[in-house]
Amino acid sequence: MTPPSASDRGKLGSMALVLIVEDNPDIADTLELFLQSETHRTERARDGNAALTLFRAAQPDLVLLDIGLPGLDGLEVLKAIRAESEVPVIMLTARAEEVDELLGLGLGADDYITKPYSPRKLMARIRAALRRSSGGERHTPYRVGGLEVDTYQVRASVEGEELKLTPTEFNLLAKLASAPGKAMSRAELIEAALPDSDALDRVVDVHLKNVRRKLGELGADQLLETVRGVGYRLRDHP
Ligand code: CA
Repeated sequence: MTPPSASDRGKLGSMALVLIVEDNPDIADTLELFLQSETHRTERARDGNAALTLFRAAQPDLVLLDIGLPGLDGLEVLKAIRAESEVPVIMLTARAEEVDELLGLGLGADDYITKPYSPRKLMARIRAALRRSSGGERHTPYRVGGLEVDTYQVRASVEGEELKLTPTEFNLLAKLASAPGKAMSRAELIEAALPDSDALDRVVDVHLKNVRRKLGELGADQLLETVRGVGYRLRDHP
């Protein structure tokens, strides 16, 4: 019996080979335990250079990539991986600022998760990423006019030009783009973009003002409309 190929393993959504790139051995141990309990196999690298060597040698089905690494950091590793592969990469971030940087660079991470993360949530993200990469679940980015919002790659663009958004701005725009033309209340937007927060309505106004300015820089500010007495919507017919 021949062992399953990388693509067969991916199709099953289990028994995947996961490359863990993490310099903290305790975190790597925990990740390894959880992955193995879901029948995945694992390889481990503790720095960026080792990660790239192992990535090329082992051809993993998925990479869990810490951003803060000695030597070559996680963002540089991601860039090098993306230059040669479409493998799903989930970034592990320690700070919100790292997420901003990650999104700003638009390097093509499939997902990111902020530490401290719940292992259950991380495992769900891994399953989803493996399903997508095996083609079992195709995703289509939201499109409104020239705006494209891709919630899997966490990327937004206008006519192909990258829109550099913070995570909250991205989440607000993604919520609006999920239902073009629909007027959404500030409460609805807070629920989608800042769940479990006590954010006030005006927080939405501040973030969306920034989004409108950034859309404006790409000539698309008319897409975002304020709906008096309600909240906001994206125009489906600009
Ligand atoms: Ca680290």
